[in-house]
Amino acid sequence: MKNTHQNIHHWYKKHGRHDLPWRRTNDAYHIYLSEVMLQQTQVKTVLERYYFPFLKKFPTLKDLGNAPLDDVLKMWEGLGYYNRAKNLHKTAGLVKTLPTEIDELITLPGIGLNTAHAVATFAYKKPVPIMEANVKRILCRLEKLKTPKDKELWEIAYKLVDKENPFDYNQAMMDIGSSVCTPKNPHCEECPLSDVCKGKDEPTLYPIKKKRVVPTREQNIMISLYNDKLSLTQRKGKFLHGLWGFPSIEVPLCASEYIGEITHIYTHFKSISKVYVYDELDCEQEHYFSTEEIRKLAISKIDEKIVKLYLDTIQRY
Ligand code: SF4
Repeated sequence: MKNTHQNIHHWYKKHGRHDLPWRRTNDAYHIYLSEVMLQQTQVKTVLERYYFPFLKKFPTLKDLGNAPLDDVLKMWEGLGYYNRAKNLHKTAGLVKTLPTEIDELITLPGIGLNTAHAVATFAYKKPVPIMEANVKRILCRLEKLKTPKDKELWEIAYKLVDKENPFDYNQAMMDIGSSVCTPKNPHCEECPLSDVCKGKDEPTLYPIKKKRVVPTREQNIMISLYNDKLSLTQRKGKFLHGLWGFPSIEVPLCASEYIGEITHIYTHFKSISKVYVYDELDCEQEHYFSTEEIRKLAISKIDEKIVKLYLDTIQRY
């Protein structure tokens, strides 16, 4: 194992992404934020558009906990999976500093096993492994596992982790997974783990990728207009909770005008929204906003597309 660890460290020294800001800090809050942002989003997007502005607005965990949820959602706008932002905000309201122990970290809202391990090892240098998607793929290939159980993977990960230098080891594993042990064309000849890899002859057999059927959901969206302002409501349901959006209705009003269709793909479903405009005051709607004012609200990607469709439509007339 010592040789493998040495190979991994040499590889990381030469090829690792040492420049990432969350790898150049010991601040547990910064590391925690990066972990949450990176859960469903690419490094490039997080780096270019979200990580720094978020930290500028909420420099400490305390600042985040004291901020109104609307401000947090606004800074998260476009990143999607808004529960992540709500849980960050809840956690920031519950603790002054993030705990150092995994058992305590996982009791906080939205912190699962992997995030807890990542905070523990990257912020507090605990000798524990992490288990994000790239690392899972490597472990499956090392042990020729087609359909592994999480428990099995954690056991392998704990045996493999370099307890003397867990920080570099874990960062290296993520980088090896994203640049060497890639899903389709792994470069086994360049891999520092090839000596101990049982699956390197046919790596793409491991793990088996489950085919997902993504259902389609259709909805009718109604924009009510009053004095050139558009009606929006703050969502109360579980989905996109807290964000502002256009109401969906069962049957469009007779006097409304159909202006087009918006398609948006989420991880679990495809959404098709047929958009109608009702050019009268709708007594059921309480809040009307100009398009300028809408820019300051936290809204979802679908609602952004609906505003754009509306603006394109009125420009055509
Ligand atoms: S040897 Fe190949 S399959 Fe094995 S971990 Fe390295 S890149 Fe992946």
